[in-house]
Amino acid sequence: MTTLRLAIVGAGPAGIYAADLLIKAERHFDVSIDLFEHLPAPYGLVRYGVAPDHPRIKGIITALREVLDRGDIRFFGNVRYGVDVTLDDLKKHYNAVIFATGAITDAPLAIPGIELEGSYGAADFVSWFDGHPDVPRTWPLEAQSVAVIGNGNVALDVSRILAKHADDLLPTEIPDNVYEILKSSPVTDVHVFGRRGPAQVKFTPLELRELGEMRDVDMIVYDEDFELDEASKAAIASNKQVFVINKVLNQWRERPVGEASRRLHLHFYAKPLEITSDADGRVASIRYERTRPDGAGSVEGTGEIREIEIQAIYRAVGYFGSPLADIPFDERHGVIPNHEGQALADDNSVIPGVYATGWIKRGPVGLIGHTKSDAMETIQHVVNDQASWWAPTHPDEQSIVELLTSRGVEFTTIDGWHQLDQHELALGEAEGRLRKKVVPRDEMIRVSNT
Ligand SMILES: Cc1cc2nc3c(=O)[nH]c(=O)nc-3n(C[C@H](O)[C@H](O)[C@H](O)COP(=O)(O)OP(=O)(O)OC[C@H]3O[C@@H](n4cnc5c(N)ncnc54)[C@H](O)[C@@H]3O)c2cc1C
Repeated sequence: MTTLRLAIVGAGPAGIYAADLLIKAERHFDVSIDLFEHLPAPYGLVRYGVAPDHPRIKGIITALREVLDRGDIRFFGNVRYGVDVTLDDLKKHYNAVIFATGAITDAPLAIPGIELEGSYGAADFVSWFDGHPDVPRTWPLEAQSVAVIGNGNVALDVSRILAKHADDLLPTEIPDNVYEILKSSPVTDVHVFGRRGPAQVKFTPLELRELGEMRDVDMIVYDEDFELDEASKAAIASNKQVFVINKVLNQWRERPVGEASRRLHLHFYAKPLEITSDADGRVASIRYERTRPDGAGSVEGTGEIREIEIQAIYRAVGYFGSPLADIPFDERHGVIPNHEGQALADDNSVIPGVYATGWIKRGPVGLIGHTKSDAMETIQHVVNDQASWWAPTHPDEQSIVELLTSRGVEFTTIDGWHQLDQHELALGEAEGRLRKKVVPRDEMIRVSNT
């Protein structure tokens, strides 16, 4: 029987689901799958994006782990496509490759002052508080008043981590350096800005409700944002999620504002225009235009300009994929151009042997569960495209190990991940915490490979 030697690049949920679905798929060939991951540990944004105080979502790792633990997929961590292995290497060793490299950078926001000192991307902040090995260990949390631009779940994650008292995060898996810095934060006010109204937000009820459960943080919403037009009323009546969100917001309107030491303000109908600077070139205020419903479910400017003093601003307006060596890249959408997961060349023809799945395939939207249906579509093409697979000269499983070793790549394995996992759990247990993440890359590798 023919054997498909498949390389998958990226061990986030998309890559792991793709491997799992291919193994379970109806097919007339054997499969042998190698999963390459830039980080020493698997799970992508589930480990390095999902917030540490969301242990239930982090628990998806258990299901992903079961797939890797079955033993029919080899994991090569600390291997970066484009640096440690190239497309030419993959063509010599495999019949096809699926890229599942996700998105980790911040989408740009083109407003004056966004480049000032004190202006940050949400993705960078998330990577920091989730202990990503490739970002600095420190973070300048010096602002009392902070703006967060965006109305999706990432904006809420960022606002929550900024507003929450560090001691309430201590039982989670946050690394020590993150706890220490959050603990010293002087923040008193976090202002979240959304261009549209409460009936058009992109966040989900669970994430919103959670904000109101924070200790010693008052939720502030403004009555003027709840004068709804007919389109907004219709959206609330017809969509259960929007209905629940508005119910939660209205409960907060009724709640007396207490004596909390921190406040989280939700500003709707507020379109950021400019970040102003102080004499030292640091963020000093956010200027925004009040918008209003345009009657068709969107908004228009009112010309009324407002300003709030802030010392830091986080843009949470979306993630963006990164280009991969020797693979076409859609600069506008930050994805590999593709037809249902088959990579496309500049002339729109299908590139044999090259596939995409997850956020690098369809852009950085959607939950972890969506990457499964995504992977199913891509896998179907891999199965059907047998006639156009590559013909590798070195398909045996050992030759890629020899190649990596000859290049001095200190790759980690699934057994190594088990060791690191146990080590982190033990560090956490000793302090009555869920887990204590090991952050430096070299230490992750050392623990994995001893
Ligand atoms: C802040 C944040 C919070 C979120 N919270 C939730 C939540 O609560 N619930 C939920 O369902 N979803 C949540 N999501 C969405 C979820 O994380 C994504 O849907 C999912 O992770 C996308 O999966 P992916 O495999 O495509 O990408 P990723 O998870 O990003 O995985 C891609 C992997 O590819 C690797 N990689 C990249 N480039 C290379 C290379 N050159 N060589 C080798 N490896 C490479 C990366 O290191 C990474 O491990 C959140 C997302 C973010 C950003």
